[in-house]
Amino acid sequence: MVERVREDDADMVDTNEMPGMDDDKHDVKETLAAIDHISPAVRDAGDHLLLDQYQGFDVDLMRMYYARLFPYQEMYKWLSYGHDRKHPQSDTSFFARREFSFTLDNDIYIRYQSFKSCNDMESAIRDKCPFKIDVGAVFNFDPSKRQLYQSAGSEKIFAPVERELVFDVDMSDYDDVRVCCKGADVCNRCWPLMTVVIRVLDTALREDFGFAHILWVYSGRRGVHCWVCDQRARKLNNEQRSAIAEYFRVYRGSENNAIKVSLPGSSLHPSLSRAYEQVLDRFFIELILPGQELLADEESWEKILHMIPDNDVRNQLRVNWSSRRQTNSDVDVNVLRWKDLEKCVKASKVKSHAMRRCLDEIIFVYTYPRLDFEVSKNMNHLLKAPFCVHPKTGRVCVPIDPQTCEDFDPMAVPTVSQLLNELNTASSEETSKTVERVKDFEKTSMREAVEIFRSTFLDDLCKSCKAELDAAYMTKVQASSKLPTLAW
Ligand SMILES: [Zn+2]
Repeated sequence: MVERVREDDADMVDTNEMPGMDDDKHDVKETLAAIDHISPAVRDAGDHLLLDQYQGFDVDLMRMYYARLFPYQEMYKWLSYGHDRKHPQSDTSFFARREFSFTLDNDIYIRYQSFKSCNDMESAIRDKCPFKIDVGAVFNFDPSKRQLYQSAGSEKIFAPVERELVFDVDMSDYDDVRVCCKGADVCNRCWPLMTVVIRVLDTALREDFGFAHILWVYSGRRGVHCWVCDQRARKLNNEQRSAIAEYFRVYRGSENNAIKVSLPGSSLHPSLSRAYEQVLDRFFIELILPGQELLADEESWEKILHMIPDNDVRNQLRVNWSSRRQTNSDVDVNVLRWKDLEKCVKASKVKSHAMRRCLDEIIFVYTYPRLDFEVSKNMNHLLKAPFCVHPKTGRVCVPIDPQTCEDFDPMAVPTVSQLLNELNTASSEETSKTVERVKDFEKTSMREAVEIFRSTFLDDLCKSCKAELDAAYMTKVQASSKLPTLAW
């Protein structure tokens, strides 16, 4: 499928055709790319020459991004889960058994990368400058050495032993219920569908499954990723992952299938009922119904009327909506018509289960999360790392605070060029004065992204990993102190 480029997104312009990207500036950029070899003072002094120079997305920008802004330490802290060599109970091979994969500039895809340490990871990323970094499972031994075991006729089978439970939701899976955009495009009218995903899944994962360490990340273009990082979640086998994913399967439809959700039973499952009361109903009425103009014209209302199993009600509503003149009410016409629909359905003489459930089913069809189930079901499935930059939009895959996800605006997510411009501005302002040395990302909008990563996810995760290692260590110490002492 050909991916459309949003006309209003200047970041997607081909950088080769961009004004200002002439040879002189390219030379300066090359110089800057080699910042390792010059002193910080010289580097900062040169930066002010480059104010607001960067646009678009290319390998040079990514080189600078990885040199100055990518939060390696936070990523390492997360993915080492406390096994950082400082704790007596830590498994020093843990991080090195994690698979990373890189997609390079020329579309070359390299799997089974592994790194011994944070420095090792940083060197590889800066050296290879991947356009995409995927994070895979933790294996029983170093993925980069898997062939040694496989070829030597070893009895050990190379296999994943741990992996975060992950969820991937793409806006393109909602194309049958949105009118504003299609495919990879998103806008502020359809983005609330992703807010619903975060609200519903986050609550269910915490309340129904008892998970606590959940990271939400913007995918950089059209969706969100969720990483459940509790030890219990990481140890789930494929069958258990499938079962959890299936728990969230409500939407079963296709464009040709009239019944698109399945809500069996005389009353809603408690998880669905909570989702409906806390999230779906409100989002449907306030944002989706008017935002997607679900009852604005005959074509759109027929899709909804199709889901009402009473011919009389359908005909009644067609008459009402076709003949009645628009009032001057402040209330949106879609909302007015929905109220009318609710009234007619409730007054219907048909009292079947399908009729009683049809209002709920319509709301679930138009709002309930639609997961990419395959991503969740298999331990060995790769998922793009947080803080990557999406090549098509130039936007950073920033973490989203689930508590304030209503405020998240995908159009306001910083792009790699914006961040580098911010860094230049900050650097040029500090050349004349003595400033305390702060990390480069803290001088840019990345600061907020990293702060959300820490405060909504990483800090608590580190505490709980330490507590788990402490407990394991105490158990070991107590066990060894109970050993019978040898009497000589
Ligand atoms: Zn849209």
